This record gives sequence, structure tokens and C-alpha cells, in this order.
Amino acid sequence: MPDTVVSVSSPAAAPAAKRKGPRGKVVIYPNWCKGCHICVDFCPTEVLAFIPSQEYPLVQQPEKCTACHFCDTHCPDFAIIVRSIE
Ligand code: SF4
Ligand code: SF4
Repeated sequence: MPDTVVSVSSPAAAPAAKRKGPRGKVVIYPNWCKGCHICVDFCPTEVLAFIPSQEYPLVQQPEKCTACHFCDTHCPDFAIIVRSIE
């Protein structure tokens, strides 16, 4: 199991107000994650998903992250963080 899983994102150089693409970079710490699904359920844009073969969330659509922080503020184990992309 990897120590961290980082979403693949490509912030553009354009100002945030005009830029399309992710607003946040999602980092998951699999060793801390207990697989409770809370972050997946709270994500309004379906960035996160669970797959049967994996015990921690998959960042399946990183480009849809709005940096709303619903996921990391509700994780009971501090196993997911979102850094805003300027
Ligand atoms: S809320 Fe936290 S502990 Fe629960 S599945 Fe998401 S990252 Fe893992
Ligand atoms: S910050 Fe918001 S949009 Fe991004 S993964 Fe978390 S819940 Fe989803």
C-alpha cells in the first residue's frame, strides 16, 4: 500500500477566475484511511470513488475538484487533504 495517493492535476497559468480545471489537489493517506466512505459520499462532484479491490478512495476525476473541502473537513481520521490550487 502506498504512503500517499496524489491526484493528477494540471493547474494552468491563467488566473483562477478564468481557468477551467481543478481547484484543488487531493491527497489521500491510505495508511490512515479506514474506508468509511464519508469523503466519497460528501463530494458533490464525484471526484472520489470506492472500488472493490482497494480499501481507500480512488481519486477518479481530479479535474472536477472545486476545493470545497467537504471531504477533508469530514474525514474522521485526517486521511485526506485538499490543497487549493491558485
Ligand atoms: S473519510 Fe477519511 S477515513 Fe473515511 S474513506 Fe475518506 S479518507 Fe478514508
Ligand atoms: S474538495 Fe470538494 S470537490 Fe474536491 S474532492 Fe473534496 S469534496 Fe470533492
